[in-house]
Parts: sequence; C-alpha cells; structure tokens
Amino acid sequence: MSVVDTQGRPLRSLRVSVTDRCNLRCHYCMPEDEYLWLQRDDLLSFEEIGRLVDLCGEVGVDRVRLTGGEPLLRRSLPGLVAQLASRPWLRDLALTTNGVRLADAAADLKRAGLARVTVSLDTLRRDRFQRLARVDALPQVLAGIDAVRRVGFAHLKLDAVVTHGDNDDELVDLLEFARSVDAELRYIEYMDVGGATRWRPEAVVSAQEILARLTDRYGAIQPIEEPSSAPATRYRLPDGLTFGIIASTTRPFCRTCDRARLTADGVLLLCLYAQHGTDLRRPLRAGASHETMLNLIRAVWKGRADRGAEERRDMHQRGAYIPLSILKKDAHLEMHTRGG
Ligand code: SAM
Repeated sequence: MSVVDTQGRPLRSLRVSVTDRCNLRCHYCMPEDEYLWLQRDDLLSFEEIGRLVDLCGEVGVDRVRLTGGEPLLRRSLPGLVAQLASRPWLRDLALTTNGVRLADAAADLKRAGLARVTVSLDTLRRDRFQRLARVDALPQVLAGIDAVRRVGFAHLKLDAVVTHGDNDDELVDLLEFARSVDAELRYIEYMDVGGATRWRPEAVVSAQEILARLTDRYGAIQPIEEPSSAPATRYRLPDGLTFGIIASTTRPFCRTCDRARLTADGVLLLCLYAQHGTDLRRPLRAGASHETMLNLIRAVWKGRADRGAEERRDMHQRGAYIPLSILKKDAHLEMHTRGG
C-alpha cells in the first residue's frame, strides 16, 4: 500500500547507495584530501539490501537506482542486480556510475537484468577531466559508454554538473556528444549538498543561463510538457534533439519529490539535505519482525516534511551547507555516502 508524507507526496523511488567509496575525487563532491569512511562491518549485505528494498516496495517504491560512492566498486554488483531484477513489482532498476569501470561490467550488468544506465560525464577534455576529478580516467569512461551501447542498453543518460569557469564552455560539446552516442544529456546545477565544501553561488550555472546559451546556438527551445516526478525538466531543440536540466539549486522540485535514499550502512534518508536519517540496519540485524520494520518505514515516510532544496533556495546568505569540521565527524552527511 502506497503511503504519503505530510505534504501528500508518495514514496515511489529509492536510491540505494551500495558503497561510500569512490575512485574519483570530483571537485564538487569530494574536494578534500581525506575522508571519514563508513565502517566495513556496517555495510549491508546484498541480502539485507534486498530485504529493505522489499519493505520499501510494500510502502510504494517501484523504482530503484543503485548509486554510491561509485557503485561499480562494490564487488559482485551484478549479483545484487540479478536479485533485485527478479522482483516482479519493480518497474525500473537503474544504475548511476562515473563509468570508469563500466567497460568491464556492462555485459554482466545487462545479463543480470539492469534496465538503464546513467553515466556522469562533466567534460570531454582529458586534461580537464584529470583536473576536475583528480584522476586521468576519461578514456575509460568513454570506453564504458561505448560498452553500454554495444551490449544493448537503451535510454542511456549522461549527467553533467556544470560550473562556471570549469566546464561551462562545453555545454554544446557535451550535447553533441550525447547526440552522437544516442544518449540524453542532463545538465545538473551545482548543489550545495554536504561534501560540496567549496560551493559558492557564483559557481552555479543556472538552468536559465544554460537555456539562454543553448538558444543562442540552436534557436528556440521548447519545454516538453509531461506529467513526471523526475528531477529533470526536459526540452527539445528545433532539430528534435532532447535534453534535460536538473535545476535543484534555482528551481527545486521538492513539491513532487517522491524519493528516499538508503546509505550503504542502512540509514534511510528522506532528503538530500536531511541532517539525520533513520537507522534500519540495527533493527534489521537485531531481528525485528517484518511487521515492525514495515511499520517503522511507513511511520518515517508519513512524518516526512522535508523541503530541503527549497529551504536552501530561500536563504539570503548561502554558502557551503555543512562546515568541513562537522563533515569530518559524520560520514552520513557526505553526498558520496548518500548517493546522487
Ligand atoms: N559515482 C557515481 C557517479 O559519479 O555517477 C554515483 C554517485 S555520484 C554522488 C551521483 C551524482 O551526483 C553524479 O552525477 C554527481 O555529478 C552528482 N553530484 C555530486 N555532487 C554534486 C553537487 N555538489 N552538485 C550537483 N551534483 C552533484
């Protein structure tokens, strides 16, 4: 039975972070030299993830996205995909990855039953990739995108976080690259989430600016009217090419947000900006009954009032969300722990 929160929003979508580890150090997510990691013993097993996904399914979830950290760092990930893909009630099973290990994994993921892949790709320039992600891995990412197409995944998405002075001169190049690989590009506004310790308003390239610049290049752009709770607003160029913009910073979509996040150690978060979550691992490992777990999840969602991105937008003075000194004490506040 689907439940709704205090704002009438149903729970439909669950983002499952399978690890907090990442093999990149993107400037907007992991700019520091050292991190506090989740305890290895606390990481949920695939069986535990399966149980929690099933419980969330009973309160309304029918879409699951595997993320991280970098999900392909989790050993045997196709095993988890196969387990989840066998759930008949799951309408969509997707993966968000930085693509570095995708070339090796794509065929196994497809065979395991993964439906869709989103690859994060902020630049097409190798030297820039190395500067922004602090690893020289663009060739591997491009090979991963190639492999995804070769093994037959449809509806490939490419996600690009755009920031002033870093990659805002690649708006057109990224869009044309997406066209060339049959993918839909989504520009993401730079968010002041935990982990973005260098966030400043001037660095954000807004949806409005992206649209203005693309209009200069391509001519009139049409918004696509569609009923959707997806974070991206989609648009069509005069030549028919479609793309999306996730404007979480300047045009938050809290009102239709139907997603929860599960960290790799089993904390359920109701908002990317939430300062606290609900630990599901402890009761699960303590042997709580199916009914107790179900009531817990149901009660947590029913009490949800979060409108984190809207509250951030309405602030007058806006800088990094969580001070570094606090982040260093609580890994759960980090974007790479929550999963994007
Ligand atoms: N490692 C995987 C990847 O790179 O796609 C999955 C996890 S990553 C945290 C998920 C998404 O969050 C990526 O597309 C990343 O660009 C985005 N992200 C991280 N920090 C962000 C920020 N400060 N603002 C906007 N998007 C951010």
